[in-house]
Amino acid sequence: MVPTPRPGILDIAPYVPGDSAIAGQAKVIKLASNESPLGPSPRAVEACREAARQLHRYPDGGAFALRQALGRHWGLDPARIVCGAGSDELIALLVRAYAGPGDEVLYSRHGFLMYAISAKSVGATPVMAPETDLTADVDALLAQVSHRTRIVFLANPNNPTGTCLPASEVERLAGALPGNVILALDAAYAEYVGRNDYDAGARLVEARDNVVMLRTFSKIYGLAALRLGWAYASPVVADVLNRVRGPFNVSAPAQAAGIAALADDAHTAAARAHNDRWLPWLREEVLKLGLDAPVSAGNFLLIRFPATPGRDADAACAFLNQRGIIPRRMGGYGLGDSLRVTIGLEDETRAVATALAAFMRGGDGP
Ligand SMILES: *Cc1c(COP(=O)(O)O)cnc(C)c1O
Repeated sequence: MVPTPRPGILDIAPYVPGDSAIAGQAKVIKLASNESPLGPSPRAVEACREAARQLHRYPDGGAFALRQALGRHWGLDPARIVCGAGSDELIALLVRAYAGPGDEVLYSRHGFLMYAISAKSVGATPVMAPETDLTADVDALLAQVSHRTRIVFLANPNNPTGTCLPASEVERLAGALPGNVILALDAAYAEYVGRNDYDAGARLVEARDNVVMLRTFSKIYGLAALRLGWAYASPVVADVLNRVRGPFNVSAPAQAAGIAALADDAHTAAARAHNDRWLPWLREEVLKLGLDAPVSAGNFLLIRFPATPGRDADAACAFLNQRGIIPRRMGGYGLGDSLRVTIGLEDETRAVATALAAFMRGGDGP
């Protein structure tokens, strides 16, 4: 006899994070996890250090000051904000609170992997809707909605494709869903989006009790190590999240760093400006090589390779690794023909372009 988990748990393929090392290479260029190349705000680091003096104290379980700061910064009602240990925790809490065996959790074909993992962890059934041109398709999502559907997850912009739906399409999706189905808008990359037809979802949350917006400090704010995210939800959904979350789910250093990071507008603007410069630059370089890459609204690029042996995504990954560059393989997302590359510092981004050019010329080795 061995302990046996509930149905669904052993169907989970464990999430494989981006690599951070290559055997035999001392210095690597890690572009596998969409981390900010500029790192955190020095003010956030200082706030974290200061908070370390009180590590014997439990954190504020209600994250009051952080929710106030978020409310002020984004013009939102702090009472509707629930903080989490990364948006990953909030995804898991939503699924735990609203779905179980026999229920369905819907997302689009190349959507973020955590949606399916969270669904399986509660015994719910993950359901994928097809995409059109690597972009979520509202009609395809709606066609998969059944009486069993409890939550629809939409990452907008989506990771790993970088594609993005305009506010009008997200509104159309929200308007067509039954009121008892949660629409979770995962806006992890919202701060990078430059399109003027984009909206992260706060107004929809205020208009509809079933819409939730998820945000994170892991991407543009460069605080992935601290695990800090937040949800903006209706009072009924915020109440549910507050019941199911741990009483001290967000650490004190994370809360302090989050407040300081929000206040450092210049640092955030610098991260955005860096991305605005180097993301289009890398895409142009990739297109010049005859490779394809969808326009990305995030801080990463999905690069697609031909199926030709020796010229495919696996070969490209091995070639980049030899040059110390770590992209993300995409097999887990049903995109085994692609690699995802985060926009790094200037020299890192140039190194990617140089390495890809050498790979496409058929060079072998650095
Ligand atoms: C990175 C990412 C997250 C997770 O962020 P954390 O706050 O670090 O848990 C959530 N959703 C998407 C789409 C992401 O790419």
